[in-house]
Amino acid sequence: MLPRKGGTGRSACATGRVLEFSGMGKAGVYIQVPFCQTKCTYCNFHTGVVSAGRFAPYAEAVCREIQEHQPLLGAAGVSLPVDLAGKSIVVDTVYVGGGTPSLLEPRLLEEMLQALREMVSCELEEVTLEADPETVEAEKAAACAAMGFNRISFGTQSFVDDELKAAGRMHRREDIYRAVPMLRAAGIRNISFDLIAGLPKQTHASWQQSLGEAIALAPEHISIYMMEIDEGSRLGLEVLQGGARYSARELPSEEAMAEFYEVAQAELQAAGYGQYEISNWARPGFESRHNLKYWRREAYLGFGAGAHSFSGKQRWANRHDAAAYVAAIAEPKSAVETVYAVTREMALEEEIFLGLRQLEGIEIGRIERQYGVSFTERVEKLAAEGMVERDGERLRLPAGKLSVSNEVIVELLRAVEVGV
Ligand code: SF4
Repeated sequence: MLPRKGGTGRSACATGRVLEFSGMGKAGVYIQVPFCQTKCTYCNFHTGVVSAGRFAPYAEAVCREIQEHQPLLGAAGVSLPVDLAGKSIVVDTVYVGGGTPSLLEPRLLEEMLQALREMVSCELEEVTLEADPETVEAEKAAACAAMGFNRISFGTQSFVDDELKAAGRMHRREDIYRAVPMLRAAGIRNISFDLIAGLPKQTHASWQQSLGEAIALAPEHISIYMMEIDEGSRLGLEVLQGGARYSARELPSEEAMAEFYEVAQAELQAAGYGQYEISNWARPGFESRHNLKYWRREAYLGFGAGAHSFSGKQRWANRHDAAAYVAAIAEPKSAVETVYAVTREMALEEEIFLGLRQLEGIEIGRIERQYGVSFTERVEKLAAEGMVERDGERLRLPAGKLSVSNEVIVELLRAVEVGV
């Protein structure tokens, strides 16, 4: 385990017995709400369109999972370090994602937050709710702010109706303009917009339009996601098998997508947004604390169908199927489907793979010492090619090379195969 500032890695409890201590600091909590109003054509997530009658039993199951997570995890073979167990765990970020969690009545969201407050020590600094524009209403926004949500991750995706329609999105451009003032009026001071580069029908001009309108609305944070095409979505299947229903033939080329990304980098920087991760830009101080935990390999507990967790020593994930999840928790039985110990090799790969997503890069010297490997040769080669920058202890990808990050990561990981 990586020794961290202020922690020895071990701690003696009152009885003198030495307990293992993860030394991971404050943890995050992720709550998954896997329901949507429709299925977007490009979506490859495990989300479903269900009747609203399923929402309350689901929220009840999440509450119960939170309340009984210690015995349920124990039964699944998860061994929580002492500082992640019960009231010892201090949670500073909560992220309620999906799916479209803003579909839920505020009462259900509040019950889940309340269950959390009762079961863990909350020192909440960032509490995010993912919301789709068409689901935002003034009363709901006020209720969410009152119960503690202080950040909205807003599924804008595009400001061009033809693109939104082709992608099967429920909202239109005017919904974004209707919803943002409601969120501001409710007191939300931290709004993040998602935009997708590579939607069907997207052109250079329409991408500029979406970017420009997003920036003009002055969110504190912007995420740009590149369209992923695989067989897990209806659009992806159409690309692979042919057809015209989901506008697969009107997808921008890979070269165009790469240009969209570069345009976004330039325009967001000019507008005062700092890029801190491959897909994320923020005004100073508005970087997502919760998402940083994933890239920095800090601890988080996930609740709900398909939710993932990480204790520093183990990773585990709940079953995806929402009905099976609710049935398991009702027994009560653990909903954990996979659990594994993170080996030294896995931890090293994660450090590189997750760390290099961040613009600040990785502490290569510390990683070399901790894992007993040497990246010197590979780093020198990559640096000579302009693919990485080394600054003392830190190794990072140059901002202009983020789109080829996978090549660099694969090259570095070759050193791992040799060295570990
Ligand atoms: S709203 Fe998000 S999670 Fe739901 S179907 Fe669309 S892309 Fe998938």
